[in-house]
Amino acid sequence: MPTREISNRKSGPKQFIYTFSGGRAEGDASMKNLLGGKGANLAEMANIGLPVPPGFTLSTEVCTWYYEHGQTYPDGLFEEEIPRALATIEEALGRKFGDPGNPLLISVRSGARASMPGMMDTILNLGLNEQTVAGLARKSGNPRFAWDCYRRFVQMYGDVVLGLKPADKKQKDPFEEILEARKHALGIKVDTEFSTEDLQEIVGHYKAAILDKTGRSFPDDPHEQLRGAIGAVFESWNNERAIIYRRLNHIPGYWGTACNVQAMVFGNMGEDCGTGVAFTRDAATGKNIFYGEFLMNAQGEDVVAGTRTPLDISQLKEENPEIYRQLDDIRATLEKHYRDMMDIEFTIENNILFMLQCRVGKRTGPAALKIAVDMFKEGLIDEKEAILRIEPEQLNQLLRPVFDVREKQAAVQSGRLLATGLNAGPGAATGKICFNATDAAERNRRGEPVILVRIETSPEDIKGMAVSEGILTERGGMTSHAALVARQMGKVCVVGCGALSIDYQNAEMRIDGSDVVLHEGDDLSLDGTTGEVIAGSLPTRNSEIIEVLVDGTRKPEDAPSWEVYNQLMLWADRYRRLQIRANADQPDQAAVALTFGAEGIGLCRTEHMFFGGERIQAMREMILADDLEERNTAISKLLPYQREDFYGLFKTMGSHPVTIRLLDPPLHEFLPHSDEEIMRLAIGMGKPYEHVKERIAALHEFNPMLGLRGCRLGILHPEITIMQVQAIMEAACQLRQEGLEVVPEIMVPLVSTLKELEITAEIIHKTARSVIAEQWIGVKYLVGTMIEVPRAAITSAEIATAADFFSYGTNDLTQMTLGMSRDDSGQFLPTYQQHDIFPRNPFESIDIDGVGRLITLSASEGRSVKPDLKLGICGEHGGDPASVEFCHKTGLNYVSCSPYRVPVARLAAARAALLG
Ligand code: ADP
Ligand code: MG
Ligand code: MG
Repeated sequence: MPTREISNRKSGPKQFIYTFSGGRAEGDASMKNLLGGKGANLAEMANIGLPVPPGFTLSTEVCTWYYEHGQTYPDGLFEEEIPRALATIEEALGRKFGDPGNPLLISVRSGARASMPGMMDTILNLGLNEQTVAGLARKSGNPRFAWDCYRRFVQMYGDVVLGLKPADKKQKDPFEEILEARKHALGIKVDTEFSTEDLQEIVGHYKAAILDKTGRSFPDDPHEQLRGAIGAVFESWNNERAIIYRRLNHIPGYWGTACNVQAMVFGNMGEDCGTGVAFTRDAATGKNIFYGEFLMNAQGEDVVAGTRTPLDISQLKEENPEIYRQLDDIRATLEKHYRDMMDIEFTIENNILFMLQCRVGKRTGPAALKIAVDMFKEGLIDEKEAILRIEPEQLNQLLRPVFDVREKQAAVQSGRLLATGLNAGPGAATGKICFNATDAAERNRRGEPVILVRIETSPEDIKGMAVSEGILTERGGMTSHAALVARQMGKVCVVGCGALSIDYQNAEMRIDGSDVVLHEGDDLSLDGTTGEVIAGSLPTRNSEIIEVLVDGTRKPEDAPSWEVYNQLMLWADRYRRLQIRANADQPDQAAVALTFGAEGIGLCRTEHMFFGGERIQAMREMILADDLEERNTAISKLLPYQREDFYGLFKTMGSHPVTIRLLDPPLHEFLPHSDEEIMRLAIGMGKPYEHVKERIAALHEFNPMLGLRGCRLGILHPEITIMQVQAIMEAACQLRQEGLEVVPEIMVPLVSTLKELEITAEIIHKTARSVIAEQWIGVKYLVGTMIEVPRAAITSAEIATAADFFSYGTNDLTQMTLGMSRDDSGQFLPTYQQHDIFPRNPFESIDIDGVGRLITLSASEGRSVKPDLKLGICGEHGGDPASVEFCHKTGLNYVSCSPYRVPVARLAAARAALLG
């Protein structure tokens, strides 16, 4: 029976409630915005005939209404609509909410558009009071079970709705205290050992504690309970951990959460009951195996909370083959239906299976790749979808270091292997032990790598998890909170390491069966791929893919992850339209860039070439020369070095384009600072110490980043430009003679006016022409400019007249547009981020509304004069997926990023093309 539309004064008739029951639902999986992920998928599962307990969803619009109207509800919601929807459940099950004869119990569950595991609240077993609990006992013939439910309900309701759960983790939950005390007094270990009378007594203590702490008695009226629970679910959208989680995951606050009300099914009624969670494939490796955990005679959170250690799903096959078979069928049905790896929650009540949740499963980077490629092979998805399934950052996880096998072996042999837990998040992490989120954040602020060690994690810990290299827990399985969140964050993670005994009070941990004690601040290493926990720090080595591509120490056929990587990259290249170049100065860096698929060099910073051995000496002589003759002598020493550098770089890159930036940084960066060094330089130059010291002092600048640098250097000292261009062209001519076609792209930095570029370009052309004339060989070259000063961006139509290409230097462009030094921004950007001043750190991801607009303007101005003006970006942003997407949309020709980010940029460019 569908719910009637109800009216409200503000926005007219609107459906606020959507029911699902026995094979049909008013919603479906496409309605996540309205029903939240949980509600939409419960509806979808009901629609495809899976066994879902009946229920209904209050839409996210109710939440929005609630907050927009001073925490109140639309007219008639509690008087008419909810009772009507409840009646559909009552009808389906033949039980009545609040009826002592045959009571209906319900769960009240939060669920936003995007999954926010464990961040918001859920209340189970709602509808119990002294009368209904007696009814439930009679009806089920199992008083112990009925009182177990009541005990859980009063605790959850007290914690969540009445607010007794302490916000500070260091304080104990009053209910846990009562429970622990009873266990201690009775000498029992797990909840299942409590008798009915024990549970009755505990409920009594709970209620007394509630009266004592809140001054009010526990509500007995089921409808009042329901109203309280719905309010608490909506309130939980704005609890601290949900807000932090949203910030970390870029989820906007205005979305709100839906609220699902659903008939309870009971996994805690006896040994033919149970509850579990599972992934349809292995979320850590991507292997096509059923991966899950369950507990018999348990309810809800028992599995994920890590209070009892759950059993592997394969054991269910032995204990209850029929239920296992049903579950395995559902696994296949869901994968076919959703065409993705799913994360499911189920409950078994007296040998009957119920589905309580499904959602697309979070997975590690390696798993994401493997699942996408496998599902393509299985015919579930096409290659476009495979590309869209992988977040570019997940790809990055496959390129991250692992422990050096030998070093690790040595550590293990020398007894440093402390324990082995579950390998929840792959990779290698080394850092200092911290036992809570606050300490972790503090150490991280001091620049120390952190390993967060917890008995189990809860949503309050995410702040600490976000700043840690790795996470280690004593309890919990592969589906525990720690494992889930770590996988999503791409963190190294080992969970369920039962051999640890963690003592928060004394900030130390012991290893069972040994006398090792580790303290806060000690070094610890985690291998998230194997689950090993190793004392001390450990050096890392390259991943399989890097060993194949860069080091050449592994054959592709011995590297399973290489195969999926390679397949994905082939697909990405088929769809992307942006070219991907790399920033590289040396032939070996260029070679690495090529193996990652770079199609050119977008930025060669020539200043890096002036540091080694004798070069720095010649460079310093040039800078400090007293007259032109001296300067030319020094420059002539630099010329052969430069020529050799460019020769090597061009040769490595073959026919791929190479953009060379003329000397850019302030000169003082090359000069010696200590007296001893200055003395040595003076002797080398055959000049008095005092004189050299004075010359250095004279070059001092108050604001060097805005001083004598960029094209200003070449305008003051054309000899520098001449030497660099001569070296570039001579190297190109030599390679041309050897039969290689190279097209150097000579780039002028820090231009702000057309005149600057014209003066520099004239020097470049004159020099290039004379080299060509001298060498008797034709070499093509381009002259372009960086656009990194706002004035240049604004006057791009003029500047384009003297340029063959523009390259947006987004680091400087961001600094100058925002008037914000990148190197000093660490002081205030974290606070800025708390205030949401920029959606992302503008030095990591292009500030699209500001810097982005300048780029868009410049690109269209430039192309209005020269339609085929070549456009690209160089700078850290070139490897940031959101910035790559922006460049694609703006119609740039290429992005250039660091060599190791090239695969990420290729994937990001393909995704932008497919989504755009
Ligand atoms: P979360 O979003 O934190 O996963 P859920 O709303 O899924 O919270 O609730 C947590 C657990 O409570 C579920 O995994 C399930 O085991 C249990 N649960 C929720 N609703 C019901 C129900 N109607 N019957 C039985 N168990 C339930
Ligand atoms: Mg859940
Ligand atoms: Mg710059």
